[in-house]
Amino acid sequence: MAFDDVTGAAVTAALQEFDRLGRDQFLEATGFGHAKSYFLEHDGNLYDSKAIVGYAHGISGDRPWRASDFSGGEKTVADLLRALGFSVRFVRNPAWTRDEIVLACALVEAHDWRTVAQERPEVVELSRLLQSRAIHPLEGRTSDFRNPAGVERKTGDLVSCLPGHRRTNGNRLDIEVVDAFRARPSEMRDEARAIEVALREWGDGPHSIEDPDLLDVSANEGSAVLRAHLRRERSASLRRRKIADARRQGREIACEACGFNFETTYGDRGADYIECHHRTPLHESGPVRTRLDDLALICSNCHRMIHRTVAWLRVDELTDLLRRQRGQTTVASLDRPGSEPV
Ligand SMILES: [Zn+2]
Ligand SMILES: [Zn+2]
Repeated sequence: MAFDDVTGAAVTAALQEFDRLGRDQFLEATGFGHAKSYFLEHDGNLYDSKAIVGYAHGISGDRPWRASDFSGGEKTVADLLRALGFSVRFVRNPAWTRDEIVLACALVEAHDWRTVAQERPEVVELSRLLQSRAIHPLEGRTSDFRNPAGVERKTGDLVSCLPGHRRTNGNRLDIEVVDAFRARPSEMRDEARAIEVALREWGDGPHSIEDPDLLDVSANEGSAVLRAHLRRERSASLRRRKIADARRQGREIACEACGFNFETTYGDRGADYIECHHRTPLHESGPVRTRLDDLALICSNCHRMIHRTVAWLRVDELTDLLRRQRGQTTVASLDRPGSEPV
């Protein structure tokens, strides 16, 4: 196939035809399925890239291309469109989360482990629920995100995870959920119900829960820096490595500011628990690799107090503050009649 005979003018004509027919009809007429990830973006609208190029070839080349005429993937087509001066957007629907799979699997189980057709009201209803912003944000979806056809496909994939079936598209998480439903059906049905209730209750609330660390800091005070700092020091693998390193050095896993030890207080439940605080703020260090020595072991209370205001406290400043404060608390409580010193 030669891309040379696809011209910008032909692509523009294809966009007009797409607008005239509407997406579904255009795709049907040209014989293409929905684009997976690459869309031509024009005047704020998204167009399925291959279908557009296929149609355009019918104008400036010898004949329209069908889906089977394309040897390369969407990426090749995207490159061509960019070379012609069009803007191309890469969009991929987020993968199914475990919660979503549990809901779809409950549907499959209720239908005797068979694929559930997109016309079924239960599928339409589940599609509607998953399309709300309760699980995935509205941004970064393609127009077919979790539509009834997608839900039907998922039910088919789940069926194919049953033993003795030829697996179509099911992944590890799908298999896990299917196995759980077969081993503990009533427990999994309860879980599905609980998920559904939670999602409905969430409704159109904000996508993510507010981070208490960010509550006191407004956007114009530099919450972006704090956000980046927190993301860096909340890395689970970094924390694991830091704790392992501290152990190797024979150090106690306790707060460097106040001495709090989670294991001493909470027993096994608190073992190996501590947060990490990056001593050098991101805006001073720049995006360099975090060294374990840059991290301080800090308990959750102290960590929150460090970041409470725009001017973060250094760990030694917090230690001083605690020392001063403890002195005062003792004196203050002695002053109050009837109260025990702490
Ligand atoms: Zn921190
Ligand atoms: Zn502490």
